[in-house]
Amino acid sequence: MKRRAVIAGNWKMYKGGALGVELAQKLVVACGDLATVDVVVAPPFTALAAVAHELQGSRIDLGAQNLHPAAEGAFTGEVSAPMLLESGVRWVIIGHSERRQLFGETDDSVRDKVRAALEHGLRPIVCLGETLAEREAGRTLEVVHRQFDAFAATLASKPGFGVVAYEPVWAIGTGKVASVEQAEEVHSALRARLANHGPEVAERTRILYGGSVKPDNAAALLDQPNIDGALVGGASLDAESFCRIVAAAPSAA
Ligand code: PEP
Repeated sequence: MKRRAVIAGNWKMYKGGALGVELAQKLVVACGDLATVDVVVAPPFTALAAVAHELQGSRIDLGAQNLHPAAEGAFTGEVSAPMLLESGVRWVIIGHSERRQLFGETDDSVRDKVRAALEHGLRPIVCLGETLAEREAGRTLEVVHRQFDAFAATLASKPGFGVVAYEPVWAIGTGKVASVEQAEEVHSALRARLANHGPEVAERTRILYGGSVKPDNAAALLDQPNIDGALVGGASLDAESFCRIVAAAPSAA
């Protein structure tokens, strides 16, 4: 049986303030009442409260793009899990490749953030994926397994609560989508790896694909047995595109 799909939009450093409010309003109208798919949007921090207000009464959940592992402290410029919860956030993206590549995130910091999210009841969307050089060197599975093993036991402590997002770095924002076969190969390898933490963890954990997902390629990806949703960057900035991807997700109770 298909797991309930998750379609999550990562707005990155776009759509703050009034533009974020406008996008949220359009999303609520276009796909705000779907009961069969988990729909999540992750605006920039400054837009969270305003977008939370717009999403009230809809079925779209609010996500954040990062968090600090501590609950509070002298960490200038950082935001904690309790602060996110207070702003209406229910999901948090952790270890996105842009954070790993541009902001020095490591496998260890990703694990600490996953732990903090779980402790406070935020659903982590934990990202991993290989670079083009790693794929061309035949190291894809070695790399994603290393990234995965750093947080897997922590994620497995609450089976089905958090999700994994496989995002080949070479496919993010480039228009180069992984083929259905390339994506499913990694997703099924990750499913097998999840089974090291028990059959329930393997069965219940949703694994999203991310990397140039668009309305015209979403259905074929989401149809794969081990692809349980999508993490969407560029196409999530347009309500019609994002909601067409949501509509392509198989329905589940
Ligand atoms: C992302 O940033 O997570 C992403 C998948 O971006 P895009 O859809 O634009 O490739």
